[in-house]
Amino acid sequence: MNISYHSWKAFKECPKKFYLEFIKKVSPTIEINEYFTLYGRLVEKFFTLFCNEWRYKTPYMPADFIRHKLKPLHEGVLKSSIVDWSKPFCKLSSEDIFEEAFNDIFVIMESMNQNYFLNTTSEVSIEVTLNNGHKITGRIDFLHRDPISENTETIIDGKGSTKIGKNVDRNQLIFYALLYFFKFNKLPAELAFFYYRFNTYIPVPLTQDILEKFRAQLSLDIKTIINTKDFKAQPSAKSCKYCKYLQGCDEGMSAKAKRAKKSKIKELEGRNGNIIFGF
Ligand code: SF4
Repeated sequence: MNISYHSWKAFKECPKKFYLEFIKKVSPTIEINEYFTLYGRLVEKFFTLFCNEWRYKTPYMPADFIRHKLKPLHEGVLKSSIVDWSKPFCKLSSEDIFEEAFNDIFVIMESMNQNYFLNTTSEVSIEVTLNNGHKITGRIDFLHRDPISENTETIIDGKGSTKIGKNVDRNQLIFYALLYFFKFNKLPAELAFFYYRFNTYIPVPLTQDILEKFRAQLSLDIKTIINTKDFKAQPSAKSCKYCKYLQGCDEGMSAKAKRAKKSKIKELEGRNGNIIFGF
């Protein structure tokens, strides 16, 4: 079995979700709208190509050249995404998203000595075979090598979020640090999230102790995954909220209904028992 960060996370959230997505590979049962991923995917695609190809020939890209390179990537991302533009949350048009991405890329590219995408490799895949034959795998967004001390590498995860610190999962970076440790037998110099919209780099602490604790937990979880025969649903507000199997999942739906009922009761309690109609 291959355990990736995403499959491990799914198992921790809800074993049934893990089973449906990573073992049975069932198609989602809810309507998918990838509007919110467009910006991040576009910017990431640009920097992946910049890091792995373009920077060797053109480390400095003027605005027109960035625009020229970004155009076909934008078309590709739109073609490969499922977006229902009629939804009220789709506030920006596809052209607006292009312009946002272009402006942010331009700012990053102009901050030359701060540009973390120079001296960086993107989409670094690592696969580690465990003693029991199972594998853990991961793909690091960016691996930045310090140009001065060549042996010093930072694992960077790119973020398209509009808020710094929103929906961050430090475990993702620690998971990649563990893979890096297995492969290179040393700790990475640093872990960090890079926020494209803010041209900001936020380091995440890592020590040998943090890594060892994580490694112990992960080994335990992998043993549990391997020995589990019945992947039971473990509904919770957090795990069901974005679960692509919510529709048709009895456990998830009934937990959702119970939560809705509870919050209505609380609302009434909050008004000291006075029920006001028409508000
Ligand atoms: S909807 Fe909830 S309970 Fe059902 S599979 Fe998804 S996370 Fe698990």
